[in-house]
Amino acid sequence: MKNGYNSTRSKDINVTASQGILQGLAPDGGLFVPNFIHNIQLDKKNLIGKSYGEMAQVIFAAFLDDFSEKQIADSIQGAYYSGKFEDEEPVALKKIKDRYFLELFHGPTCAFKDMALTILPYFMVEAMKNVNSSNKILILTATSGDTGKAALEGFANVPNISIIVFYPKDGVSTIQEKQMLTQLGDNTCVVGVDGNFDDTQNGVKKILNDSQLAKKLEKANVLFSSANSINIGRLLPQVVYYFYSYYELLKRGEITAGEKINFVVPTGNFGNILAGYYASLLGLPVNKLICASNANKVLTDFFKTGTYDRNREFYKTSSPSMDILISSNLERLLYDVSGSDPEKVSELMEELKSQGSYQASKALMEKADLFYAGTADEAQTAQSIKSIFDDTHYLMDPHTAVANKVYEDYLRETGDPTKTVIVSTASPYKFGRSVYESIFGASELDDYALLDLLAQQTDTAIPQPLKDLDQKENQHHAQCKKSEMSRAIISFLNERVENHD
Ligand SMILES: *Cc1c(COP(=O)(O)O)cnc(C)c1O
Repeated sequence: MKNGYNSTRSKDINVTASQGILQGLAPDGGLFVPNFIHNIQLDKKNLIGKSYGEMAQVIFAAFLDDFSEKQIADSIQGAYYSGKFEDEEPVALKKIKDRYFLELFHGPTCAFKDMALTILPYFMVEAMKNVNSSNKILILTATSGDTGKAALEGFANVPNISIIVFYPKDGVSTIQEKQMLTQLGDNTCVVGVDGNFDDTQNGVKKILNDSQLAKKLEKANVLFSSANSINIGRLLPQVVYYFYSYYELLKRGEITAGEKINFVVPTGNFGNILAGYYASLLGLPVNKLICASNANKVLTDFFKTGTYDRNREFYKTSSPSMDILISSNLERLLYDVSGSDPEKVSELMEELKSQGSYQASKALMEKADLFYAGTADEAQTAQSIKSIFDDTHYLMDPHTAVANKVYEDYLRETGDPTKTVIVSTASPYKFGRSVYESIFGASELDDYALLDLLAQQTDTAIPQPLKDLDQKENQHHAQCKKSEMSRAIISFLNERVENHD
């Protein structure tokens, strides 16, 4: 029987949802895609008035071909309804001025990655049962800040899974580093690498291709997997909140049934906005998906010209989770707009690898006309934070502010009256310094003191997970050179074996 997931680069690579989730990346370097997505018939009447969890159940059941209803229900319960999120529902939709902010940052690490990384561990545990695996899994993650903490929090204390996170020692913010170093759970390990993010990510890729190390691990029944945003198990949870915000607007009488809406998405690796695209393929009435980039505007240029070109200067910005020149998940969009053509995708990805650029055909770009793209530089991002705050007292983090600015450009350019949801990806307190300084000007205070001041001056509250962070004790102290990353893994595994097995 043919399974539900192919690689974007070959239809011969064909797996179940469980296998796809456990493998992360397809063995040919492609990404797993659901080959049945155009055939899914969601019973949309069944979504009206439903809770987030109930909607998630319907959507996951459509995608997770070898999961039982109960496996899905238990995963949803564990991730979204067991006290990990601040409120009763995991996300919040707020109307500010003429637009709606979909707040995805009320989870354990205050960034939208929690939406997927709280549930991925449950999916993995169930997937292991579905493939009858008695192995143990080691999640390997390189992070530029947000993913690392969200993955640690998600996988902490999950039986039979351990997680090791590598981050560039001097490449993450004080608060991001402290969030990771204070992580509890003795199946977790955090290592600062003497190098930048690219070194760290390359190190992880090398380890994944190290056959000697793999053999050693196999002997100990340990398999590598990834919590990276290319994992299909991270993508699917993100589809849910597009539906949820639509039906929430319907419930509140802000839109009528069938009315199309826009989403603006602050974009880096193209995972979040791709989930919006998948939602539209499932029949969600979407007018435009507005792709917002910071100064690293590869995607803006791509949607405007059809040329993807990573050969350009890399900027470090105040929205670091979008500082990306290779947006991996774009490959899944190319796959869909090419009519599921793995040869075409392989060709473009080969060009990207060898030349750093490719040109998508006009026909391909016409199929992607649901997308509009725009960019915000640093000054415009800061201005966006300040003007919304001055106007409405609403605080946006820099990633969300990029989206807000791009939406205002879109409005000016098109005059489009369609109701619009701005997907809000991080708590302003996670990037407290940028937010504070955008509104009140430069400060000499340290990052922790600045959070207190931001709370005082804006009359808002520091979210619980970021409160008193400076008083928490560091649990992790390991550092290594970029050439020593595999040794760090072996010593972590040895420790685990001595202590627990
Ligand atoms: C990861 C991240 C993004 C980018 O999301 P992609 O799915 O990579 O496009 C935007 N904002 C924040 C706060 C993030 O952590």
